[in-house]
Amino acid sequence: MPGFVSHLSCPRCGERHDAGELHNVCACGSPLLVEYYLDRIRSALSREDLGSRRPTMWRYPELLPVRETADLVSLGEGYTPLVPMPRIGRAVGLPDLWVKDEGLNPTGTFKARGASCGISMARALGIREVALPTAGNAGAAWACYGAAAGLGVHVAMPYDAPLANQVECRLYGAEVTLVDGLISDAAGVVDAGVRDRGWFDVSTLREPYRIEGKKTLGLEMAEQLGWASPDAIVYPAGGGVGIIGIWRAVEQLRALGWIDRVPRLVVTQAEGCAPIVKAYEEGKDESRFWEGADTIATGLRVPKALGDFLVLRAVRETGGTAVAVSDEEIVDAMRVLARDGGILASPEGAATLAAAMRLQQRGDLDPADRVVLINTGTGLKYPEALELAAEVRR
Ligand SMILES: *Cc1c(COP(=O)(O)O)cnc(C)c1O
Ligand SMILES: [Zn+2]
Repeated sequence: MPGFVSHLSCPRCGERHDAGELHNVCACGSPLLVEYYLDRIRSALSREDLGSRRPTMWRYPELLPVRETADLVSLGEGYTPLVPMPRIGRAVGLPDLWVKDEGLNPTGTFKARGASCGISMARALGIREVALPTAGNAGAAWACYGAAAGLGVHVAMPYDAPLANQVECRLYGAEVTLVDGLISDAAGVVDAGVRDRGWFDVSTLREPYRIEGKKTLGLEMAEQLGWASPDAIVYPAGGGVGIIGIWRAVEQLRALGWIDRVPRLVVTQAEGCAPIVKAYEEGKDESRFWEGADTIATGLRVPKALGDFLVLRAVRETGGTAVAVSDEEIVDAMRVLARDGGILASPEGAATLAAAMRLQQRGDLDPADRVVLINTGTGLKYPEALELAAEVRR
């Protein structure tokens, strides 16, 4: 496989770190970003070369960190459909509306991208046991890819995380610890295991490679739209890895000269846990811990994200915005996506439609805009939310 990684960089203090070594965060506490020799990639690769490649996220190895094919842990993740939604679009005043449907990934969510890349790099770096706190889906994905790779996986999650996630993790052979609290409380269990049992910490943004996997989401959307950026991409932010990844993709594609316009990056969160939206509205560079986080969209139940400052930068530098939506709007949007689009969305994914509707109403999105919603996972993992949306139970 091609190796174009130059180094790891710190987006907060600017420190450079060597690639090819174990890293968690920078000494300053910031997540680290993977940097590439983009000029070399520009002369080694053209957009046309991609056409004949495999339909997974690994069709872009030049822009990914894995060097040895033997380290690659892939279950066919990525290259998910980007589907036009003309009926919903017309109904909500955004006729050029699309959904990137991440529900078709292994484990049913886009967490598969981060886990495929993260577990591959863990293998490459000789790690044997990884640990992470999770709201649910990340644990399932890392347990899945850990099983495929033969690595030990330790997962800590809130006791009220979706049952599907708990069961998946156990079936994939991960050690599961249930915590009476939120993902932020589950982090304590992982910290203790890292300290006392030698686990490698793969918490959100505490290792550099999960972002690289999620970056492929941005690469794919550009390729699938014929290298014409949409006007806006709406993303449901928990820890924010996906939106940071998409931002990295956009910047790297611009540097390669493959796209010439930057989409506005829009984040949405649930009203019951909206620290990044609040920081955006207050003009702050960082969010504050959100007390009493509560929403049906469990993947968005992240009271304080390590990479919040990067999410806010991505939104502001691309001319995007941030908006919170209620659980009721989320459930309504699940119903609309199913009935009028044939998409069985996760609550997090449905939040992007609710957000787009609000932004259209307040004039932040225009009927002429091409808008892409990211449905980050399948609704099948959320039977209770599906019952609400189907009005089986009220
Ligand atoms: C984890 C998750 C999110 C949030 O992703 P981040 O990268 O943490 O922002 C959104 N939707 C679903 C379904 C998730 O599992
Ligand atoms: Zn730093």
